[in-house]
Parts: sequence; structure tokens; C-alpha cells
Amino acid sequence: MTPKKSKPVKKSAPAKSNPPVKKEASATGAEKAKKTYALVRGMHDVLPKEEKFWKRFYHGVESVADYFQFGRIETPVLEEAGLYIRSVGKGTDIIDKEMYVFEDKDGSKLAMRPEATAGLARAFISNGLWNLSQPVKVWCWESMFRHDRPQAGRYREHHQVDFEVYGIKDPAIDAELIVAAYSLYQDLGLPVEIRLNSVGTPAERARYVEELTSYYRQKRSYLCEDCRVRLTKNPLRLLDCKNEQCLPIRDEAPQILDWLDEESKKYFMKIVEYLDAVSIPYTLAPYLVRGLDYYTGVVFEFYTLSETETTPEGVKTESQQSALGGGGRYDLLVEELGGRPTPAVGFGLGVERAIMALEQYQRKNHLVEPEPVYDIYFAQLGEEAKRQGLKMLMEMRKGGLKIAFNFAKGSLKAQLEAANNIKVPYVVILGQKEVQDETVIIRDMESGVQEIVGHKKLEATIKKKLGRV
Ligand code: AMP
Repeated sequence: MTPKKSKPVKKSAPAKSNPPVKKEASATGAEKAKKTYALVRGMHDVLPKEEKFWKRFYHGVESVADYFQFGRIETPVLEEAGLYIRSVGKGTDIIDKEMYVFEDKDGSKLAMRPEATAGLARAFISNGLWNLSQPVKVWCWESMFRHDRPQAGRYREHHQVDFEVYGIKDPAIDAELIVAAYSLYQDLGLPVEIRLNSVGTPAERARYVEELTSYYRQKRSYLCEDCRVRLTKNPLRLLDCKNEQCLPIRDEAPQILDWLDEESKKYFMKIVEYLDAVSIPYTLAPYLVRGLDYYTGVVFEFYTLSETETTPEGVKTESQQSALGGGGRYDLLVEELGGRPTPAVGFGLGVERAIMALEQYQRKNHLVEPEPVYDIYFAQLGEEAKRQGLKMLMEMRKGGLKIAFNFAKGSLKAQLEAANNIKVPYVVILGQKEVQDETVIIRDMESGVQEIVGHKKLEATIKKKLGRV
């Protein structure tokens, strides 16, 4: 049969309600075949070589969540845009510059999740979770979308681990949450330090912001362009500026802790005492405010330990690097979003950034990520051996044996070499003769000694050799 010639694509006028036809849609088959699709700017693929870190982090998160009794929750990527505008607040980069917002077919304004806390609070209210016994502890592992300027460690889609506790206001709960986050990094093998501050109640913060604004107004002519805008739009964010010309001004600025009432101060100091009791490394960071509207009390961020620089006098200084994660208390958000008054505290940790920091840390300290360990290598010779081998592999997997194999390799030499490279103690060889005899050869890779066993006895013999019985 001769292949049909591809018909030229007819150009028809687009119907009025349809979007304009893109060039690609009218391309011929040959043109279509040539087209390759690039990754969308700011997006990234996670490749198998990084997957081992992702897996370790995820398993660590699951185990910490179980230990601290947090229940997994998943919320949709899309929420009403108003949810984020109301909770994160105007004047923040997330809302003003970075949120992916679009109009849905029914005209409603939707946003792709830029952060987890607001959506989780919405889910807490929508699902009536206040009916559960308090505190309600939830966690999630989700994609976040921010239309940020892409660069190393900054993507337009990134992942975060979020833990939130609703319903109880107690310094022990704040400390428990910080310890849970610290444990996640510990399990991952990444040494971190916590920076800690309190942004107080809205009334305390309002008094402080007044003082801060008047201080910065006097220095206006020395500030960077962005900070001049922040001065009128969101003065607290002046403290986040990493610009060299603004840092010395910030270092002389009034500190929010001095503007807290006795009760708030006491609450904050109790958290610090709990952290002292468990001896985890923290630094008081008087200018840490985390810039989002909903915080009302303790705020914290995590940095890799190596990113905290030490001056020749031994004084720790804040590094210019960006945080691995952070969080804080937000006692008014659930009520502001239409729920019952519900104090809450939570954190969000960036997955990509933690993994990047871990890779850097391992490289710097010449640490090698352990390779997967296999019990045996399964070598086959010929088609019938592959067929029978597949069945044997399935059975042995059920029996809990970890088996390496490669059906693409044909020669015994190549398969023994592969087995040698991954340092398995035994190779199971299934050749044509063994297929007929319903036997296999077990080769001890250290001594080179080989023995023949029947198919039925294979699993038990291997387990005995591995000391698993
Ligand atoms: P934030 O809510 O902005 O404090 O973000 C929490 C954590 O998510 C940060 O500390 C980062 O580790 C991570 N993160 C935030 N934005 C990005 C991004 N654009 N790309 C990668 N990771 C991010």
C-alpha cells in the first residue's frame, strides 16, 4: 500500500467565537514533525538523578508527619484569587507581581496557588475541621506557582512542604512545630539554623510600623528605589531589603520586640525557652518580619548553617542567601476568611531549595550519596530465560528480595561486569540448560564458587545465604 500524500491544510476563516488560529495549527505534517517544544520559562523537570533526594525528603516528611501526628491534606491548585489577596495582602510581591491570575470561562477570577497557608485555612473552614478535637494538625506537599524572575533556586513552579496547627495558642505548640521542621532537615541530612522573631499583634505592629516609617522617612534620600516605594506601600518590607546601601540603615532601625506588650514578649520568650531545652540552633533575628499580612506573633526562617557567616570577631552575621523555608503564627486569618476564631501556626519549606542546599553541602563536605543496595543480580541467557526470569523476578520481589537485572544485556560477561559494579554478593544465572532442567546457578561473587539449585529452592537458598532466615 502506497502511503497517502498529506493533504494541504485548508485555510478556513476562524469562527468568530474561536481564539485566533495559531501558526502551529496550520503547519503541514512535516513542519509539525520538526517542531520541538521547549520547557516553559521558569518551569523545571525533576530527573531521575535528583529523584533520590526528592524521595528521601518525601519519606522523611511522611515519617515526621506521622510521628508528630499531622494528617495529610491536599487542596486544589486553583482557588479564588480573592482568597490570596485578602490573606497574603496587597503590597506583597506575591500578590502584586507574582500571582498567576486568570479569568475562568464563567468570568470568575482564579489564581494558581502561590503559597499554602491561605488555601489550607480555606479548606479548614470549608470542611468544618473545627469540629474535630483541637489542635487540628495537617500537612501537605504541593506545587506553588509564582511568576518570579527565574534564576538558580527560583522557579515559577516550585514545591513546598507545609505543616499547620489550628485551634490552640500555646508557646509549646509553636515550639513543637519549629522542632518538627528542624527534624525534617535533620532527617534529610542538612544542618540548618533557625532565625526567630515576633511581629506581635496587629495593634503592636501598627505602633511599630509608625515608628519604623518615621525612622526611614528621615533616611529616605539614602534608600534604594524599591525601598522608597515600600516606604509608602508596605513599610515592614523595608526590613527585607538586601540592597547594600539599605542594610546599614536597617541595622540601626527600631526593633519590633521593643514595641511588644509584656504578654506578647512573655509568650515569645517561652518559645525561646522551649527551643533552648531541646538545644536546637537558633538566632534571634530582630528584623525578620516575613512580609506577609497574616502573621501575628512568632515568625521564623530556616537557613543552611554554612550560610550564616562569622566575622573575625566570632560574631554571626546574617547571610545574603535566601531562606530554605519559614513560617509563623497567624491567629486571625481563619476568622478573617469567614471561619470561627481559630488561632493557628504553620510553616512552608521549599523542596527544591532544600535539595539544592543538600547537594551543595554534600559537595563541599565530600559526602557521597549512598547508592541503592541490591541483594542479587539476575543474569539471563536467551529468550526463554527472559520469559521464565520475569516470572521468577516477580516471585522474588514478593519475597522481599531486591534484585538488579538488565534484560537489554545479552552476554554473561557483560552481566557479570554489571553485577560487579554494583557490588552484589550473588548472581543468579539462568541459561538455556538451566531453563530445561528447571534450575539456576548461584554464583558467589567474592569466591567465584557456583552451585546449582532447583527453581523452587532459589528464594529460600538466597535468603539463607543472606542470613535472612
Ligand atoms: P515563602 O512563602 O516565600 O517564605 O516561601 C517558602 C519557601 O519556599 C522559601 O523559603 C523557599 O525555600 C521556597 N520558595 C519560595 N519561592 C520560591 C521560588 N520561586 N522557587 C523556588 N523555591 C521557592
